[in-house]
Amino acid sequence: MLSFLRAELRGLFELLLPPCCPLCGTLLKSGVGDAFCPACLDAFAPLDSACCPRCALPYPQPSGSDHLCEACLRHEPPFVWTRCLGLYEAKLREAVHAFKFHGKVHFDRPLARLLAARLETVRQDYRPDLLIAVPLHRQRLRARTYNQSLLLARELGRFWRLPAPARLLRRVRPTHSQQGLSGDDRRRNLKGAFALTQKLAGQRVLLVDDVLTTGATARECAATLLAGGASSVAVAVLARARLQKLQ
Ligand SMILES: [Zn+2]
Ligand SMILES: [Zn+2]
Repeated sequence: MLSFLRAELRGLFELLLPPCCPLCGTLLKSGVGDAFCPACLDAFAPLDSACCPRCALPYPQPSGSDHLCEACLRHEPPFVWTRCLGLYEAKLREAVHAFKFHGKVHFDRPLARLLAARLETVRQDYRPDLLIAVPLHRQRLRARTYNQSLLLARELGRFWRLPAPARLLRRVRPTHSQQGLSGDDRRRNLKGAFALTQKLAGQRVLLVDDVLTTGATARECAATLLAGGASSVAVAVLARARLQKLQ
């Protein structure tokens, strides 16, 4: 009787509150299962130009083959590859902003599913043992109340049935905003900012973050993970900024 009532109530809710695209409010077609409408998904700025396979820096030429960027040639990153859902532009930027700054924590599942689909091919060759989110310092976490990267890592973990431990990698030192800093200053700003709470035993790690700009944070996290016993680190982010290189 109770389950019957519950099903009836759910049906009533769906009738009263049909699912809408969280970005534009368009009514979603039932049965399709997408969390965003087709128009918003189309405007998610996929990275379909050639790019650097290590840090996903996109190149301006629409065609051409993938090759290492200058920053990765000069300082080899401690991670094996980077993949993103798309560029930090257009609707994807809007979605990441809403997820990160405006409390839209329920974007975690749809964004993680899209990212998982994007990673499916590369995951055939690189099967991670665990997912680690780029952590926030506790002061920042207190102000922001949640770490969007951890929400994302957990959803990916649920999807792939992999652990996504929250406290293994910690940000032990608060850091200034990376915005406006040069490559060297970014590296200095992050030096010693992360630590592991326990040693790893040769696991392959997928480091998860929302946005990758210069890659300085990912580099520092990956170096910490490798020093702590990870066998390798790859990086998955929602969005890649079309930006500068490390100097
Ligand atoms: Zn939409
Ligand atoms: Zn690169």
